[in-house]
Amino acid sequence: MAKVRVFSLAKELGLQTDALLAALARLGVENVTKASAIDEETAATVRELIAEQAAKAKAEAEAAAAAAEAPPAPVEVEQPAVAEPEEAAPVVETPATTAAAPAAGRGRARGDERERKEEDEGRLPGGPPRLTQGMMRLEEHLAALQERLGPQAEEEAGGLVRALPDIARRTRGNRPPNAVDVPPVVTVMGHIDHGKTTLLDALRNTQVAAGEAGGITQHIGASEISRDGRTIVFLDTPGHAAFTAMRARGAQVTDIAVIVVAADDGVMPQTVEAINHAKAAEVPIVVALNKMDLPGANPDRVKQQLLEHGLVPEEWGGDTIVVPISALTGEGMDDLVDNLNILAEVQELWADPEADLAAVVVEAQLDSSQGPVATVLVRNGTLSVGDCVVCGTAHGRVRRLRDWRGKSIKSVPAGHPAEVVGLSAVPDSGEVMVRVASPKEARALAEQNAQELRERELSGTETAALRGLYEAIQGGTVKELNVIIKADAWGSAQALESSLLGLNELFDEVRINVIHTGVGHISESDVLLALASKAIIVGFQVEADAMVRQAAANERVEIRTYQVIYEALEDFQAAAAGLLEPIVETRDLGDAEVLQVFRISRIGAVAGCRVTAGELRPNADIVVTRDGEEIYRGKITSLRRFDNDVSVVEAPSECGLASGDFRGWRPGDRIHATMQVTVERKLQTQSQR
Ligand code: GDP
Repeated sequence: MAKVRVFSLAKELGLQTDALLAALARLGVENVTKASAIDEETAATVRELIAEQAAKAKAEAEAAAAAAEAPPAPVEVEQPAVAEPEEAAPVVETPATTAAAPAAGRGRARGDERERKEEDEGRLPGGPPRLTQGMMRLEEHLAALQERLGPQAEEEAGGLVRALPDIARRTRGNRPPNAVDVPPVVTVMGHIDHGKTTLLDALRNTQVAAGEAGGITQHIGASEISRDGRTIVFLDTPGHAAFTAMRARGAQVTDIAVIVVAADDGVMPQTVEAINHAKAAEVPIVVALNKMDLPGANPDRVKQQLLEHGLVPEEWGGDTIVVPISALTGEGMDDLVDNLNILAEVQELWADPEADLAAVVVEAQLDSSQGPVATVLVRNGTLSVGDCVVCGTAHGRVRRLRDWRGKSIKSVPAGHPAEVVGLSAVPDSGEVMVRVASPKEARALAEQNAQELRERELSGTETAALRGLYEAIQGGTVKELNVIIKADAWGSAQALESSLLGLNELFDEVRINVIHTGVGHISESDVLLALASKAIIVGFQVEADAMVRQAAANERVEIRTYQVIYEALEDFQAAAAGLLEPIVETRDLGDAEVLQVFRISRIGAVAGCRVTAGELRPNADIVVTRDGEEIYRGKITSLRRFDNDVSVVEAPSECGLASGDFRGWRPGDRIHATMQVTVERKLQTQSQR
C-alpha cells in the first residue's frame, strides 16, 4: 500500500508535525515519528477529519463573529485537532520497539499515555465514542492540543539534538528572519570491510564534473554532496569511534548516522556497536544495505538481524529507513541521498549566519609546511580569513581557508566545513572555535581555557559510578544509570541485560538503562561510549586489558567485572541501597624483631630485623615496643633485602627497614606491622546465610 511520511502530510495539511503526531496518537497510530511513513488509508482519514474540523471551526467562528461576541480563535482554523476516531478507525500496527530516536520516542509515548488517560477520564459513557461525538468534543481537545503546541512540544521535538554542547548546539526555537537552512551532517559507520570508505568515495565522486575524472583526491575531513539544490555534509572519518570520541568531548555534530551493512555478511559486532553508539547519541539512523551486487546478498536476513537489535525496517512497519545499495556499482545511491534529504528536512536545520561564530573541529593535524591545520564545521556565524579565533588552548588569525575540494575561499558560511590554517597549535577534535576581537584577547582566552583544562583535569569530570549511587540518588543528582554490558557470549550478555533491567521493578528512585550490549573484551571504544554517555561498564566473564583499564582510569570510567550474574545483581541492589560504600579495614601483616642497628648517613637509622611471623611491606604501619611498652608509631619508608628494595619480606627472612627519620631503634625491639586496606562491601546472599 502507498505510504506517506508524517512530516509531508503535516506540510500538506498546514499542521505542525507535533500536532499531527498528537492527532495520529488519538487515532491509535502510535510509535511514529516525524519521519515515519503511514499508510495512505490512515492519511486519507486524517485529511477527512481535518477538513471536517476546519469547516466546522470556520462555521463556528463565523457564527461567533456574526453574534459580535468574542472574536473567533484563529487557532481553531489554523491548527485543527483530530477528534476521537470511530471504532473502526484505521490503525497502523507498529512494533513496540522503534529505535531510531529512543529518548524522543519515549518522551512522546509517555506524554500520549497521559493524554489518553485524561481523555479516558472524560469519556462519554456508553461505549466507544462515535465519530460525531468525537467531533463534538473537538473543542475540549483544542485546549490540550494548544498546550502541546507550546514550548514543551517544541522541546520534545528538539530531543534528537538536545545533547549538543551549548555553543555548538544546533539552534532551536524561534527562527530569526535572517536564518538560513543548513545541510545535515552525516557520519558513516559500520563493521570493517562492509564498504564505508567505498561509499564515501562513491558519494564524493558523484560530485566530480566530467573532465575531473580520477575523483577528488584531496580530503579535508568532510565533504559536501549536492543534488537538486540540496546539500549534505559527510564526515570523512568513518566509524563510531571517531563519532563517540567527539561526543565524549562534548561535541556532537552528526545529524544522521548511516550504518553500512554488507548484505552478504549481515549484522556483525561492530554493526551492533555502531547502532548502539548512534542510539546513545539519539541520532537518527539510516541503514545502507551495501554490496547488493553480490550474489550472496540476502537483504531479508539482514533486516531480520536489524530487528533483533531494535531497528524495525519501514517496510515491516517500523521506523528505520533501509536502503539497498551497491557502493561499487552506484545502485541505490540516489535513493540513499533522497532518504537522507528527507530525514534532514524533518529536522528543519537552520543557523544564523550573523550570530557569534561557533565552529567545531572535526579533525586537525600538524602539516610540515603550513603548521597546524584544522577542519572545522561552522555551526553558527560566518568564519572569514583574517578572523582572530580561539579554539581551546590554540589561537591565531585565520591565514587561509579551503573548502572541501581544497579550493581557497574567503569565508565559510554557517553549516559548511572548511580547512583552517593559522592556529598556534593543533586543537583536539570536538573543540569549539570562537571569534574574538584582537590577538591579545585571543591569547588571553586561550590561556584561560588552558587554566580551566588544568582545573578540570585535577577535579575530574562528572562520571557515572555504582559506588556512591545511593548518595547521588539522595542528593537528587541521579535518576538514570546508564550501563554498557560486555560478555563472553550473546546468551550470557542477554541474560545479564534482562536481569539488570529486571531490577527496575525493585528500584523506585533510579532507572537502569542498558545502552549497549556486546560480546567480547571491554575495549577503548566501550570506555569512550561510557564517557560520552555517562555510563558504567559491566563485564561478565570478560576482562579489560591494561591499556583499556588505564584509559578508563584516566577518564574516571567505572568498570566492574563479574563471573556470576547474581554478584552483579547484588552489587547493583547494594549500590542503590547505599550499601556499597567501601570499608577501610586495618589488617595485621606480621611481626619482626630488631637484631642489629645500622647508622647510615644518608638514611639515618636502619633496623636489621628478622620477620618472626607473617610479612612486612613498604608503607605498612608499625608499632615498636620495648619491654612491652610502645616507644614508636610510624610507617615503613624503606624495606630492603641484600641492598635491594623489595615489596614484601616473609617470615622467617631477615631484612633492613627504616621508618622516616626515626633513629631510636635498639636490638631486641619488637615490631608489629599492620596495613589499611579498602574492601569492597559485599552483601550476604541467601545462599551464604
Ligand atoms: P570499510 O572497511 O567499511 O571502509 O570497507 P571498504 O570501503 O574498504 O570496502 C571493503 C571491501 O569491500 C573493498 O574491497 C571494496 O571494494 C568492497 N566493496 C565495498 N562496497 C562494495 C559493493 O557495493 N559491492 C562489492 N561487490 N564490493 C564492495
